[in-house]
Amino acid sequence: MADKIYKTDEEWRKELSAEQFRILREKGTERAFTGEYYKYSETGNYLCAGCGQELFGSETKYDSGSGWPSYWQPIKKEAIDFHRDKSFGMIRTEVTCSKCGGHLGHVFEDGPKPTGLRYCINSASLKFKKTD
Ligand code: FE
Repeated sequence: MADKIYKTDEEWRKELSAEQFRILREKGTERAFTGEYYKYSETGNYLCAGCGQELFGSETKYDSGSGWPSYWQPIKKEAIDFHRDKSFGMIRTEVTCSKCGGHLGHVFEDGPKPTGLRYCINSASLKFKKTD
């Protein structure tokens, strides 16, 4: 199991942009269709913008029409933690980075085959790394 990362809000604020902090550490959501990676289609991996853990591969990214980067599977299951989220009068499953606890987005059961899942992720929670 990977070592977890714990930092104070003050430490995170120094490392993250204001938008990244709002989303990763305060469970915010970026406006649909505005994120850096929504239409991004380069080949490579998407890492956690907080700690650099590899989260999603470009081969599982697809256009869900939602306005947020969408993936049907993480690189490995252990990279993601799942939480029941009852905020805003909805029951959803929040997904966070298993290493730093950063909020990524939510997972829904209306994704494509083979998993049928849609990991709906904020661009601000991600950092793209091209594979050679
Ligand atoms: Fe992380």
